Amino acid sequence: MEHLNPPSPDSGDAVFPAGATVAVLTAEGLDRMLDYRVPEGGIAAGAFVEVPLGPRRVMGCVWGEGAGDFPAEKLRPITRALDLAPLRREMRDFLLRAAEYTLTPLTHMLRLATRVPALAEPPGARPILRLSGTRPDRMTDARTRVIAAFEEYGNLGFAPSELAHLAGVSSGVLKGLEAQGVLLREDAPRDPPYPPLDPGAGPRPLSALQTAAAAELRGAVAARAYSTTLLKGVTGSGKTEVYLEAVAEALAAGRQALVLLPEIALSVEFLDRVEARFGARPAEWHSGVTQAARRRAWHAAASGDARLVVGARSALFLPFRALGLIVVDEEHDGSYKQEDGARYHARDMAVLRASIEGAAVVLASATPSLESWANAEAGKYRRIDLPERFGVAELPEMATIDLRQDALEQGRWISAPLETAVGARLAAGEQSLLFLNRRGYAPLTICRACGHQVGCDLCDARMVEHRFRKRLVCHQCGATKPIPEACPSCGVEGKMHAIGPGVERLAEEAVALWPEARIAILSSDLAESHRALKARIDEIAQGGADIVIGTQIVSKGHNFPYLTLVGVIDADLGLQGGDLRAAEKTFQLIRQVAGRAGRAERPGAALIQTYMPEHPALKAILSGDDEGFWRSEAAARRMAGMPPYGRLAGVILSGPDEPRLWEAARALGRAGEILRAAGAELYGPAPAPIARVRGRHRLRFLVRAAKGVALQPLLRDWAASAPPAANMRLVIDIDPQSFY
Ligand code: ADP
Ligand code: ZN
Repeated sequence: MEHLNPPSPDSGDAVFPAGATVAVLTAEGLDRMLDYRVPEGGIAAGAFVEVPLGPRRVMGCVWGEGAGDFPAEKLRPITRALDLAPLRREMRDFLLRAAEYTLTPLTHMLRLATRVPALAEPPGARPILRLSGTRPDRMTDARTRVIAAFEEYGNLGFAPSELAHLAGVSSGVLKGLEAQGVLLREDAPRDPPYPPLDPGAGPRPLSALQTAAAAELRGAVAARAYSTTLLKGVTGSGKTEVYLEAVAEALAAGRQALVLLPEIALSVEFLDRVEARFGARPAEWHSGVTQAARRRAWHAAASGDARLVVGARSALFLPFRALGLIVVDEEHDGSYKQEDGARYHARDMAVLRASIEGAAVVLASATPSLESWANAEAGKYRRIDLPERFGVAELPEMATIDLRQDALEQGRWISAPLETAVGARLAAGEQSLLFLNRRGYAPLTICRACGHQVGCDLCDARMVEHRFRKRLVCHQCGATKPIPEACPSCGVEGKMHAIGPGVERLAEEAVALWPEARIAILSSDLAESHRALKARIDEIAQGGADIVIGTQIVSKGHNFPYLTLVGVIDADLGLQGGDLRAAEKTFQLIRQVAGRAGRAERPGAALIQTYMPEHPALKAILSGDDEGFWRSEAAARRMAGMPPYGRLAGVILSGPDEPRLWEAARALGRAGEILRAAGAELYGPAPAPIARVRGRHRLRFLVRAAKGVALQPLLRDWAASAPPAANMRLVIDIDPQSFY
């Protein structure tokens, strides 16, 4: 990301006296600020208030002095101040700049920062439901789901609406259980404080390299000024161990720390490590925690009581009171980019937020993004390397299996050399992982009589067979249909045929090859809940399977101590298609997956099946020449003027009516003169690679410019100069990661 300014000076917030005019930003409704009159007692900038908006009353935030362009006698007063910590000036600044950078309405940003139901209600005003311990007189499916929700989240109490939603039952079911005394209705208790974290509780002796790295990170936190450090270390080198020392420094200095993880909802391991290091668990913020836990974390971030928050990308929008450190773990991970609503990249927003707060950022990865690598090369980020695994663990041996020589039999995906290697691990009592980044049974269902491919009715996408669910599923929109007996096109029966592998089909092959082995599939769609998936990962890590068949969820940071062999089934999968980052992503993914092997005393190996072993990404993986790979990627991007050496925006225009859509797109194309005059290039319109999703047609533009061009204001003017019709939608994605 571009254009970071120095941190803002920390001046106190203004207090507006009664009768003054202030601008209030609301989290819903209009995307502009409205003026209101300050009530008795005055009000501070940043305060949360309730204001009248038409016939309604909505929550808002006092942003600053009013514009004063509204007749004073018509000005409505603020209804009341809410009992919430005011949004600090740094936070308002952050929201404003994040909105400008991502071209997101500021209202929407305020929503991101206040995404907790009943935020301003006192705890006692909310009833909650808890389990009493009494069993229901008889069980039904709905009642089983209610009990299961408590098993999943704990018996801390749910708001009735939340419980109904989580369990997928009507309020009538809950009333029935309440009448029987199975559920108790109580006032929500006051939020208990988080247990204190002790920076000196459980430090471990570090290796010499780790000690030096930890000292440097501690220094960055102690400086109380903005800095970003790229912590590049091979899998198992102790990056987590080292950045926890930076967290310790922040805690000791009385500041707060935020650690972002890509799959936090699945990570028991990380929370255990925090507990071992600091003597207690941190606050959590992600989709797997209840509303009550979210409320508690929000308030505690604002009061400073939550000293360490571990969260998903949206934790960046918590109202921290004194943020001293942000760690972005696995910083290259694609899930840090939010792809709908506010399209922001958490890594970039972390840097922006820290630069405003005067905090340190640590970007940790074994395979950094080219963006971060280039920023370190350019001297904008510091860089620390941990090139060795900790202790006796060694990096896995890696080799490719050339499928042009070791040809696969029809309908088989495990080559002879890979079969032999897995067999050897089985004999030695060790664990193997077969990695295939494809959910389901088969990516394509085709009729052998007429060649028809079963597609989604609403999307320009083929349907993927999921045999466990016995359905075809559209991975674009989630629509499903039964697996047809007869061809939907020619009507011939018994000729429908599955083409290509998914993890379910691979498991079928593994069962046939190794009938005695314990085989487990790890795929996000096969577990009923986060908790079930977490439990399954845990069980596998403890040796509960001989062969693990997994999608990319296995690449995300879990330690599997018994795992000594990784087989990559199709290394070429990510290299097809015209994605700007195809080589980079393949390099990262295969490196990460291979890094799962041999993390304890036993050495590991990785075997990579491919039809193009000479591809630079694969060659770099085998030779271990990371720097060479990044240098050549960087050179190619620089030549093409592509990120991080040029600026890019993706633009999607979508709508139900194709001819009208083309008309609107051509008008935008003509208006592109504004862009060209400022030195930017406009490509398109062209049908998007997925030309229809959920019944809406999609056309795509790409805008490219040199680094120095301030792209956002240009794009805003361009979009405003040819506004599309009401049933169309124009989405601008700054620094796009996906090109569908
Ligand atoms: P990374 O985050 O780089 O993959 P981790 O911090 O997860 O590495 O460390 C890998 C493994 O080595 C973990 O099991 C961790 O507990 C262990 N480890 C790393 N450094 C130390 C240390 N100084 N003392 C004890 N164990 C360590
Ligand atoms: Zn679909």
